[in-house]
Amino acid sequence: MIHLKTPAEIEKMRQAGRIVAEVLQRMREWVAPGVTTGELNRRAEELIRQRGGIPSFKGYPPGSRHPFPAVICTSVNEELVHGIPGPRVLKEGDIISIDVGVIYDGYHGDAGITLPVGEISPEARRLLEVTEAALYAGIAQARAGNRVGDISAAIQRTAESAGYSVVREYTGHGIGRRMHEEPQVPNWGEPGQGPLLRAGMTLAIEAMVLQGAPQVRTLEDHWTVVSVDGKLTAYFEHTVLVRDGEPEILTQL
Ligand code: MG
Repeated sequence: MIHLKTPAEIEKMRQAGRIVAEVLQRMREWVAPGVTTGELNRRAEELIRQRGGIPSFKGYPPGSRHPFPAVICTSVNEELVHGIPGPRVLKEGDIISIDVGVIYDGYHGDAGITLPVGEISPEARRLLEVTEAALYAGIAQARAGNRVGDISAAIQRTAESAGYSVVREYTGHGIGRRMHEEPQVPNWGEPGQGPLLRAGMTLAIEAMVLQGAPQVRTLEDHWTVVSVDGKLTAYFEHTVLVRDGEPEILTQL
């Protein structure tokens, strides 16, 4: 069942989304050569709690043998998603994907960006630009009357027409009282296919793009997803509200 949110629920998701957006905004200042991913995690947790939010990734999924041990995901270079923050020191020329999830008053917000660390190569810059454009192409399709496949196809078309590939193993998702609700929102698909979008649906749309082949694998830490060929990857995500007409981006300041 796809749950359509009431105005009161949407307001709580706006609050959660605002905290997520604020953390990501601050990351643009905090990410720099010499900073550790663990330091970014510590600062994110402090800000989330100051704002009255609860970090949603820490300990996820409940009851798992290997719950996620941190507040944010930090994925560097060939790491696509779910990287674990720690002692790693960011270097000039790295790119870092940061994923932030917050619960506010029982409702979730989820978003992410890939940021340059200092000066990056033109190739890396282009990957970031295309991946962000793929996310916004997907978001533009998130309107009542369209289907999930319209979002997926827009992401895929934007990435692949630039010579990149999209990941198959991970998807965007419905979001609300739980971090992962129906429907799944893949990065590939056919226009006009999949579940019908209705006003009041809330979706975490994620563009996950690889510079090389689409194959990924998970490291021994049980979480970090990397490209098999070691090439760069990028990821941008927003939580959006589907409406008649333009969607509202809930994780934007
Ligand atoms: Mg997500």
